[in-house]
Amino acid sequence: MGFKKLGLSQPVLSALTEMGFSKPTPIQEKGIPLLLQGEDLIGQAQTGTGKTAAFGICILEKLALGKSERGKVRSLVLAPTRELAIQITGEIQKIGKHLHLRTLAVYGGQDIERQLGPLSSGVDIVVGTPGRILDHIERRTLDLSRVEVAVLDEADRMLDMGFIEDIEKILQKTPQNRQTLLFSATMPPTITELSKKYMHAPQEVRVSEDSLSVKSIRQYFIEVSKFDRLNAFLILLAQKKPELALVFVRTKHGADRLNEILEDRGFRSMALHGDMSQNKRDRSMDAFRRKHINILVATDLASRGLDVTGVSHVINYDTTDDPMTYVHRIGRTGRMGKDGEAISFIFFDQASIISIIEKVTDSKLEEIKLNFKIEDLPRRVNFARRESDDSRGRRDRPRNGPPHGARREGRGDSRGPRCEGGRDRSPHISTAKKEFSSRSGHQFFGRRN
Ligand code: AMP
Repeated sequence: MGFKKLGLSQPVLSALTEMGFSKPTPIQEKGIPLLLQGEDLIGQAQTGTGKTAAFGICILEKLALGKSERGKVRSLVLAPTRELAIQITGEIQKIGKHLHLRTLAVYGGQDIERQLGPLSSGVDIVVGTPGRILDHIERRTLDLSRVEVAVLDEADRMLDMGFIEDIEKILQKTPQNRQTLLFSATMPPTITELSKKYMHAPQEVRVSEDSLSVKSIRQYFIEVSKFDRLNAFLILLAQKKPELALVFVRTKHGADRLNEILEDRGFRSMALHGDMSQNKRDRSMDAFRRKHINILVATDLASRGLDVTGVSHVINYDTTDDPMTYVHRIGRTGRMGKDGEAISFIFFDQASIISIIEKVTDSKLEEIKLNFKIEDLPRRVNFARRESDDSRGRRDRPRNGPPHGARREGRGDSRGPRCEGGRDRSPHISTAKKEFSSRSGHQFFGRRN
């Protein structure tokens, strides 16, 4: 079935065609007709299902009809993070390209004064994080009294992040007869309570069951000791040569450290975590999206909601023991029917995680055994330790070392960066001759046995 059958207007249909959307995804097919009838809707859907376009289309179709109200905020989308708010705004702007409706992202971290101009000059759709939206309400710089459609995106995550009070305060500022849409990957009781309080006889659409659909993602694990992990990881990258890899680590500090190490080894990498300024976060995301870098080392800030086209690999450098977090992380790859690989480093005492993950995702994780020689390790190219965590400008000019890109020959890697126990250790994994296996497309990996 094409979008035409859903009764969409010509400007929206044209934009969808230009975006390369030829047919609706299941949530769009089920959800859009209900939304266009004005129903409240609870969508149990993860990212990657096309839910943003589902609610974006509905908002745009509805708002395009009310010409006299142009420039008044008639739709509000609440999202848990700035990155997601920016992403949703981009998607709505693309779908609404031929409609002359204005969509603005309003999020914390950006100078609030900068948001005042666009807000006062007339915006139809505001997409924002709860904290900043509330700031604007309190400053009286955002009037929600004409909101016709309110969307709570990633509702479970917003509640996890402690936004419940903010969300309630915000919804109370919108008209009671608004249409309310709620999207959430999971449906804990707090979501049900919220929906009872703020939604009118909501329809429910489910596109994924509790065991989440990760079928298009090939999943692997590599068992390592703590001391071997860094070398194994470097080898993996050098051999895999991922087009676009999202690497998850547990801590903000860990993200900076690993990113530095990767840069030192000549990889095009940046970090993303919550301690970075908004500017830096935007720069990292932008560089990753535009493929100026091909590795993003991130905390779980990036594990949900983010949609970057073409992420070929998700690597869990620090593997999470929370299966839902695992599912969200690996969901950054294998999107919209494309293939993707998820590779998790597991310490020997973490083996039980595998069976838990397999149960939750109803899939099998295959073991990769890395065989490599010490000479296979990517050599260091930057010897100076930088002061800033992700200053791209300075990266090109290492202070004491050879010019960027130059390699120090013949020294091995014993003076490698400090990591995991203070020393860059020689690999204990295996120094057997590297052999390539074609099984499962793993031409880069040698396997023992
Ligand atoms: P979402 O679940 O909203 O994060 O969407 C995931 C990705 O699917 C985004 O890159 C969308 O642009 C894309 N997408 C949404 N709907 C469609 C569609 N009908 N056909 C192809 N791609 C789509």
